[in-house]
Amino acid sequence: MSIRLRLTLLYSTILALTLIAFSVALYVTLSGALYNGVKETLVDETKRLIYNPKFNPYTGDLQLQASKVTAPETYAQLRTINGILEDPQRHRSPSLIAQGFDLPLCHECLQAVQAGNTDLQIATIENRRFMIQSTSVSIRDSTFILQVGRSLTEQDASLRELSRLLIIGTGVATLIAFGIGWALAGAALRPIDRITQTAHAIGEDRDFERRLQYTGPADEIGRLATTFNAMLSALQSAYKQEAQALQAQRRFVADASHELRTPLTTIRGNIGLLQRVPPISTDDRIAVLNDMAEESERMSRLVNDLLALARADAGRPLRRDRVAIKPLIDDVCRSAHLLAPERTITCINELNVQVMGDHDALKQVLLILLDNALKFTPASGRISVTTAVQDQRIAISVSDTGIGITADALPHIFERFYRGDTSRTGAGAGLGLSIAKTLVEGQQGVISVQSQPGKGSTFTISLPQVEYSEPLTIPAREESVQAV
Ligand code: ADP
Repeated sequence: MSIRLRLTLLYSTILALTLIAFSVALYVTLSGALYNGVKETLVDETKRLIYNPKFNPYTGDLQLQASKVTAPETYAQLRTINGILEDPQRHRSPSLIAQGFDLPLCHECLQAVQAGNTDLQIATIENRRFMIQSTSVSIRDSTFILQVGRSLTEQDASLRELSRLLIIGTGVATLIAFGIGWALAGAALRPIDRITQTAHAIGEDRDFERRLQYTGPADEIGRLATTFNAMLSALQSAYKQEAQALQAQRRFVADASHELRTPLTTIRGNIGLLQRVPPISTDDRIAVLNDMAEESERMSRLVNDLLALARADAGRPLRRDRVAIKPLIDDVCRSAHLLAPERTITCINELNVQVMGDHDALKQVLLILLDNALKFTPASGRISVTTAVQDQRIAISVSDTGIGITADALPHIFERFYRGDTSRTGAGAGLGLSIAKTLVEGQQGVISVQSQPGKGSTFTISLPQVEYSEPLTIPAREESVQAV
């Protein structure tokens, strides 16, 4: 059942119940008033008759004084205390004689009157209802029962008419209320209908740019429309993000396959050479095997890089430890020196500070930067690692006096699989800086670059500093840090 119908039915039912309660109250009050009026008439008539008994002057017989029964459709009758109507002619009012029936007296009524009470009964005579009051009266040492009755025809007819009117009125009012309620509920729910249609259309077309046009007041529906539009905006941006991420993922998979294809093709070609009959010369075989070893190494480096990126993408949480900068840089410089003992790498690091982050991830980032610096700087060039404190942040810079990066390439170097001029670059797959960026940002850090072609580059990572809670423990191997 629709909300519209439910609301309308609810309102109509409430109205109908209210009208019924009102009608019942009105009917009860009015019938009470009407019957009370009849009762009062009976009391008045009884009094009048009691104080004015009439006796036959010759026989001394008691007779009802007919002229005293003044109210219309009112009848009187006198019974003995045993309930017997002795003389129907003299003991009935002329109006009753004219009707041709007696006023009945039920057994209980008789007992009540004999006990000295006044009894009031409603009796049906010839399909007409009568209210009859029976009272005991003492006249000249004898006790009689005086019955005064009145027809309720008029009152019953009035009440019948009233109930008819109330029933029809209630029915018609309920029907009108249902009609108006149906129209009003329809008008009130129309914007919701529009929202539903728009939502349906958006779902069908996947058109998250569409918005709900609502010009009404900022009531419940207005708030629903605003919230709905806000939700659409959020959905739109989420959808865009998802589409971008999907595109990036597709590009990534394509690039990764492409990168893996080259070493695999080389290895396959080389295997073909090794399988040749007659076999190739020993010198050629050594050259082919060296080539294969080199390609395998490149492939395993690439797979390692891909794994690192895949883990970062999967949102694997990095550690959030206090990392002392000095031992970290000493460690990195030592590793770089071992990798390229013939190169000049200067590590200037006098800061006893800590950052919040992952020690291993930071070391990996610095090694990537140093590896690039070594790759893109001629043997005669200089490479240095320096630290500085700026606005509660620690900046670690890796500078070189290498080939530098052109302004065109600069915005792209952190992209996955981006490599500068391949004739100038080494054998990297273009993943190093994107891994570094992901790892730094995973620690609330920022990585930036400044470079001048032909003069060199400086990569800086900046991380939030943490206050010291205890003195730093500096490893004993500190003296081997400087590698000049
Ligand atoms: P790769 O692993 O191939 O070195 P990176 O993501 O680390 O890839 O670097 C992307 C590109 O950025 C490199 O191909 C190179 O062109 C440029 N680049 C990175 N570091 C330097 C640097 N120190 N000097 C000059 N160019 C650099």
